[in-house]
Amino acid sequence: MSSYLDTDIMYLKGVGPKRSEVLKKELNINTFRDLLYHFPFKYLDRSKFHRISEINATNAYIQIKGKITSFRTEGTKYKKRLFAKFADETGTIELVWFQGINWVTKNYNVGGEYIVFGKPAVYNRKISIAHPELEPLERTSPTSRSAFEPQYHTTEKMKASYLNSKAIQVLIFKIISSPEFNIEETLPDYILGKEKLTPLKQTIRCIHFPNNTDELKKAEYRLKFEELFYIQLSILRLKTGRENKIKGFVFGRVAELFNEFYKEYLPFELTNAQKRVVKEIRHDVGSGKQMNRLLQGDVGSGKTLVALLSMLIALDNGFQACMMAPTEILAQQHYNTLTRMLNGMDVNIMLLTGSTKKKDREVLHAELTSGRLHILIGTHALIEDSVIFSNLGLVIIDEQHRFGVAQRAKLWQKNEHPPHVLVMTATPIPRTLAMTLYGDLDVSVIDELPPGRKPIQTYHFRDSKRLAMYGFLRKQIDMGRQVYVVYPLIKESEKLDLQNLENGFDGMVQVFSPPNYNVICVHGKLKPQEKETAMTVFKNAKAHILMATTVIEVGVDVPNATVMVIESAERFGLSQLHQLRGRVGRGADQSYCILMSSNKLTNEARKRLEVMIATNDGFEIAEADLKLRGPGDIEGTQQSGVPFVLKMANIARDGQILQYVRNIADTILELDPLLEKTENAILSAQLKVMKQNIDDWSQIS
Ligand code: ADP
Ligand code: MG
Repeated sequence: MSSYLDTDIMYLKGVGPKRSEVLKKELNINTFRDLLYHFPFKYLDRSKFHRISEINATNAYIQIKGKITSFRTEGTKYKKRLFAKFADETGTIELVWFQGINWVTKNYNVGGEYIVFGKPAVYNRKISIAHPELEPLERTSPTSRSAFEPQYHTTEKMKASYLNSKAIQVLIFKIISSPEFNIEETLPDYILGKEKLTPLKQTIRCIHFPNNTDELKKAEYRLKFEELFYIQLSILRLKTGRENKIKGFVFGRVAELFNEFYKEYLPFELTNAQKRVVKEIRHDVGSGKQMNRLLQGDVGSGKTLVALLSMLIALDNGFQACMMAPTEILAQQHYNTLTRMLNGMDVNIMLLTGSTKKKDREVLHAELTSGRLHILIGTHALIEDSVIFSNLGLVIIDEQHRFGVAQRAKLWQKNEHPPHVLVMTATPIPRTLAMTLYGDLDVSVIDELPPGRKPIQTYHFRDSKRLAMYGFLRKQIDMGRQVYVVYPLIKESEKLDLQNLENGFDGMVQVFSPPNYNVICVHGKLKPQEKETAMTVFKNAKAHILMATTVIEVGVDVPNATVMVIESAERFGLSQLHQLRGRVGRGADQSYCILMSSNKLTNEARKRLEVMIATNDGFEIAEADLKLRGPGDIEGTQQSGVPFVLKMANIARDGQILQYVRNIADTILELDPLLEKTENAILSAQLKVMKQNIDDWSQIS
């Protein structure tokens, strides 16, 4: 270990106790090393000089080379300003200072040659540069000798302590140019050689002070490679470790129940995707390994049937199975579906939720411990300690994004021996993100909808076209169809939302007035009973239009509803828009989604709506979402429990590198599962450092 880099940042010349406090508090920079890993967020190209005659006020930061030809001041006291005329061979521009005037005139001379750096702006109808940076031409400072000037993130508090971007740059340069500077390599030689990666020491120098774009690109690549590689290595290491340690139940037979159901009760032919996934699951549970599989499939892709078939395999091998859903409505819905499908077969199935009565619970517990109960469906209530299985073999979790990793683990621990786990998610996660967040799970994908579904057609109407929208609704309603209208719900302004909904309702009733039409309204202020009633009215086709805040997001199934109107669509995120749209298109008729928006849209909002119009594919939408928003915002990331802070790599943009390094990590672990070979000593040492950081991190949070 190089002790120089582990030195407390306080001892770096120019820092001291006060500024080191600021660095620690604001950026968690405690040592020299931490500072080196504070990377620039962009670079200014210092290799180019502007000609003064070509400068205009729309230029961003520019650099010019020339001479100061004169100084003059204007005003007195607070209003005193200093002007310098600065000339190159093409023209003259004015430099202006409002502060530090004495310092400027003392340090810069008329006739001196300088490089001026700053942002031109119009002042008094002339272009000038206020508070520029000046550097004598013959003595450009060592840090700015590199062609690219690094720009660092700083905070207000840092700036108040004179720790602006330039100051950070100088501090970093001090460390890097010190004769004591050395940094131990963090990747093994054989990887560096094979992948043609820049050594770490050079990488760190180039990421701060690149001489050209090529150096910069190589440094960035090496850092991204390393970050993603170690994440994959640690996830895969855990996975192989677990697989070697934990033996899974072997479901060796596919027998009576599965075959009986398949031959006599299966209501329709499985899609090819469903067949493939069932095969993958069968392979897992028969292999002797404990299955940990993530099943991704868009809304309506038929995951429930896959879950049922998997549970039947467990039953055929003498085990119990359970299925956990995030809400009571969904649990109830699963229970209804499964009892209907299994009707006539010798399978016992029960439902357990928060509202299950105590008496029913007692019966249920007895059935469960005796093993007479085969399948238990429920909510979080399944996790409770009082729920004891006689031999739980398979756990299915629906809608992953609402359960945290910890809850998953808790279900594992239900048995002395961990059951197989199948996690199903309807919120498609882009592959790259899945590999990072759920990298310890194997992934199956249902990428095909059951036949006969007509893709939903999506249109965007601006507010000025509202009448056209009403016209469209009338046509659909006159054909006997029903319509949803959804308003956004934003917690901070519940009142406003309600008002928007009420105004919309008034407008709608004007157009679709009784007695010919019935419009109903559902929102958070209604009692559960009132909501139920309204939903039932709609379900039974006694209302034409259901207007609501997003309460209908989960658990509504009305095949006769063919139109989904989303008001203020620009206020919804992509995944939410996609989920809402999934409420229609469930019957045989052509369905539509209408995105209403204000006339003016931000660029990003416009792009979101364009994505919705362009595709019905949840995965494409998730990819687009990731690109537009970045991974931090994606639903589920926060609770993933993956404390990896990416400094350089970006999951949305660096998917290819991620896939690439995952394969490398895979190969390494295949040859050396415990990373015991000498050539891999660096790898296991780095994993230890990472683990330490993660432990520290989880103690903080
Ligand atoms: P999700 O993946 O959203 O949970 P479901 O399992 O609820 O989807 O299935 C959606 C609908 O599609 C259900 O009505 C189901 O009966 C039907 N379905 C599932 N698989 C098939 C299939 N292979 N062929 C036709 N319909 C299917
Ligand atoms: Mg489902």
